[in-house]
Amino acid sequence: MKSYDIIIVGAGPAGLTAGIYAGRQGSKSLVLEKSVAGGLGLEIPSMENYPGFEIVSGLVLMRKMKLQAQKFLELRENEAVENIVKIENGFEISTTKRKYFAKAIILAMGKKYRKLGVDGEKKFAGLGVSYCATCDGIFFKDKKVIIVGGGNSSLQEAIFLDNLGVDVTIVHRRENFRAEQYLQEKIKDKNIKTIFNSEVKEIKGDKTVKSVVLEDNKGNQKIIGIDGIFVAIGSLPVIELAKNLNIELNNDNQIITNKKQKTNIPFIYAAGDIAGGLQQLIVACGEGAIAATSAYNDLENKD
Ligand code: NAP
Repeated sequence: MKSYDIIIVGAGPAGLTAGIYAGRQGSKSLVLEKSVAGGLGLEIPSMENYPGFEIVSGLVLMRKMKLQAQKFLELRENEAVENIVKIENGFEISTTKRKYFAKAIILAMGKKYRKLGVDGEKKFAGLGVSYCATCDGIFFKDKKVIIVGGGNSSLQEAIFLDNLGVDVTIVHRRENFRAEQYLQEKIKDKNIKTIFNSEVKEIKGDKTVKSVVLEDNKGNQKIIGIDGIFVAIGSLPVIELAKNLNIELNNDNQIITNKKQKTNIPFIYAAGDIAGGLQQLIVACGEGAIAATSAYNDLENKD
């Protein structure tokens, strides 16, 4: 069994930054990623609030982070962690490919998309139902779509789709958006259509999506013809591994950490969206740096 000082689970912004710090501190470290490095960061169409870049896409930033991280650590993509068990002096990590030993663990698995849970959503996933405008928007150029949700993601992705030449309407279940004011103003400036106080009740189609059933808050239903639906209604932390380790979670199922990113289990740390908080890329990076430094300090003091 290959042995490491620190194993980091998840190669999003938190995991990659933790890896950069761990590697530069001299810890033998490995980052395990179930798919490709970058996490949900890859799907951010553009950011105007990441210091140092007036405007940058998540894809560009995450590629840079990955290249930088690989100078300092071992990164294994397409290798999902299936279980972590506490053993003497550390942890045994079982992945889809092999087992590892680590003295400390940093959990940085991020979050997964929240689903609408309506009829047709599963059936048409990839056939008109999408959770990522950055990935799939181009397929809907000159076509008609709705995007569901009233948060930053929904509005940001609506702007991205509009810029691509997609005919996009935002559908939100309330009277007002919760997104930041500057995004709301952009939506108005661009005359992007909105339907408030309405929820999607069903997604219909044949081979691909053809329409949705919307219901307003008075119970009135209407069917509108569309070619696609983007779901941007937030996300849920990926906490299955944490639950198995009896790590303490808050009411939103996010891992509880202290200011040093320590969980309630010694030598297990958590960083990024999985630990809740502001859910911004810059914060995930900051927490990754703190988690790696805490792990390094704790391991140094242990010996
Ligand atoms: P979010 O802020 O949680 O917003 C989710 C939206 O979806 C809300 O408007 C919510 O409605 C709606 N919603 C939830 N469940 C729904 C359902 N079952 N049916 C219909 N609508 C539903 O999620 P997010 O936009 O993905 O953002 C997540 C975090 O990332 C936030 O902290 C956000 O600030 C951050 N973020 C920041 C930026 C940035 O550039 N600053 C960009 C993207 C994301 P209600 O309003 O009724 O709750």
